Amino acid sequence: MNCIFCEIAGRRSDASIVYEGDRVMAFMDIRPWTSGHLLVVPTRHATGLADLDPADGAAVFAVGQRIATALRNGPMRTEGVNLFLADGVAAGQEVFHVHLHVVPRTAGDGFGLRGVPSSPSRIALDQTAGVIRSSLT
Ligand code: 5GP
Ligand code: ZN
Repeated sequence: MNCIFCEIAGRRSDASIVYEGDRVMAFMDIRPWTSGHLLVVPTRHATGLADLDPADGAAVFAVGQRIATALRNGPMRTEGVNLFLADGVAAGQEVFHVHLHVVPRTAGDGFGLRGVPSSPSRIALDQTAGVIRSSLT
């Protein structure tokens, strides 16, 4: 398997590392959306959410939360933070090793997610909720 994030986690490829722990590593994205954009990854390979150990997922989120706090409190101007995870091609995933984007934000930085909200009825929302609820395991 040729996985760039496994190579980075195994210290066989270069990265600008921000955090290194047993379960999780965080390093700068090489093509940042904003200054300070970084990625938090589980050190153990998981392609997507379906094969991610929930304990690794919890650790990834905890480190993302900790780094978001550091960004807010540190010297780099950070007015807000977006956490973003793409799971699957349709969701925009390009590297198939789970990663949480941590994106520092400032007003007018030009970053944004495109989306057009709709206005479904309560009945439609309840129906959709029921379908999803019955799929929960
Ligand atoms: P995705 O679209 O899969 O959510 O995001 C993949 C991210 O990984 C992109 O933002 C891309 O810039 C970043 N990336 C791809 N290859 C490398 C790499 O070799 N090193 C680092 N640090 N980031 C990478
Ligand atoms: Zn990997």
